[in-house]
This record gives sequence, structure tokens and C-alpha cells, in this order.
Amino acid sequence: MLLEATNISKTYGRKEAAVRALNNISLAIDRGESVAIVGKSGSGKSTLMHILAGLDRPSEGAVALDGRSLSNLPPTQLADVRNFAFGFVFQQFFLNGRDSVLENVELPLKIRGVEKSERTKAAMEALKQVELEDKADARAQDLSGGQKQRVAVARAIVTNPRVLFADEPTGNLDSKTGERIINLLFSLNKEHHIALVVVTHDEDLAKRCQRRLFLKDGSIVDSLDSL
Ligand code: ADP
Ligand code: MG
Repeated sequence: MLLEATNISKTYGRKEAAVRALNNISLAIDRGESVAIVGKSGSGKSTLMHILAGLDRPSEGAVALDGRSLSNLPPTQLADVRNFAFGFVFQQFFLNGRDSVLENVELPLKIRGVEKSERTKAAMEALKQVELEDKADARAQDLSGGQKQRVAVARAIVTNPRVLFADEPTGNLDSKTGERIINLLFSLNKEHHIALVVVTHDEDLAKRCQRRLFLKDGSIVDSLDSL
């Protein structure tokens, strides 16, 4: 199993202010699988994704990557796991607007200490995958929303991740542009066997995943496999 969560719960705050965002969730994601996490706003989707991705830690339970628990890793090692195994695409693109498109895509490799020429080569390759090689030198802030999200996808895949996490990746895009991003994510999933974990309340997007997990009040209330 690639990624496995066992009995995870998450409580934010304490005492009277405590909010139980996740309630005893277990799930397993295989290599190359596509899984949608669906549910209403506030149901715990983002919290679950953040915990699966090692961006946050569960209050109880554990997450394991390739059978190795992430629970006891110190923050720097957890950051390394994220940098080496995971790619992220968020609703808000989180690009550095003043930097060039190329610099934005190179960033995860720079953090990893990859030397400049190798970085540029990999970043240009990633930009080619999202059909934005011609924008490499443009400032990120000068791109359209759809282009920005494609840059975010290029940045997410530049490290050859095992899992691509996407939290409402089409939330800030019109439907036509969103469709293009969705097609891109699924082509990466199929061609490169990158597991895809998508948080969404877009039914059409969710249905294209092999499995849909329905969250309600922090619990998985249903799981459906696509035919
Ligand atoms: P979703 O992504 O499905 O909208 P979230 O995972 O963001 O849901 O939130 C689940 C619940 O946890 C909500 O009740 C939300 O208000 C609460 N929550 C999320 N993040 C925090 C936080 N940092 N501090 C306190 N409560 C939070
Ligand atoms: Mg959310």
C-alpha cells in the first residue's frame, strides 16, 4: 500500500473551543490510484488531505507511506518526505507573482538542493507537460487563472511525486478552464502512475476518480468505486 491512514482523528482547539474535524478515519491508497474526497463545506475534506499529505498531524491515529509511519518523524524529515514524495495543487495557486514561471516551477528542486542546470531542465520538461514552455520567462502574476493553475501543476510534478494532492483545484476557474486542468491531472495520473487525491465538491470531477469517499461531519459515510 502506498499511503495508509489508520484510525485518524483531528481535534482543533481545546476544551469548550474544541472542534472535532475528523473522527476515526481509516483508508488506504494504492500506487497510481485516483481518489476523490467529497462532502459539504466544513465536512473535514481539507483537514483529511492535509493530514494524509503530512502538512498537519492527526490528534490520534497514524499515516504511513510505503508502510513507514510518518507519526514519529521530526518536522525536517516530514518536510523531506513531502518534498520527495508529494506534489500539491491548491485552489489558490500560491505562486510567487513577481518571480518568473520558470523560477516558480524550479522552487521544489531548489529546496532540494538540485543544481541550476538540472533544475532548469526538469522545470522546462514539466512546463512542456502543461503546455506552457513559451511562458517560462513571463512573470507568474501576468498569467491568466488557468495558466497559473497549470504552472502550479508543473511545480507539483517537477519532482516526480508518488502522490499528487489537489484541494479544490478548479475552485477559482471557469468551467472550461477547470475542465482543462482536470484533464491534465488525469492524464498525469494515467501516464505517470501518480496517485491522485482530489478534494472537491464538483461531482463531475469526483466521478472521474476510481473511488469517491464521502465525508460528513468528519466521518467517511460512503465509499463508491467507479465502474
Ligand atoms: P472542508 O475542507 O470540508 O470545508 P475543513 O477540513 O476545512 O473542511 O474543516 C473541518 C472542520 O474543522 C470545520 O468545522 C472547520 O471550521 C474546522 N477547522 C478547520 N481548520 C481549523 C483550524 N485551523 N482551527 C479550528 N478549526 C478548524
Ligand atoms: Mg476545504
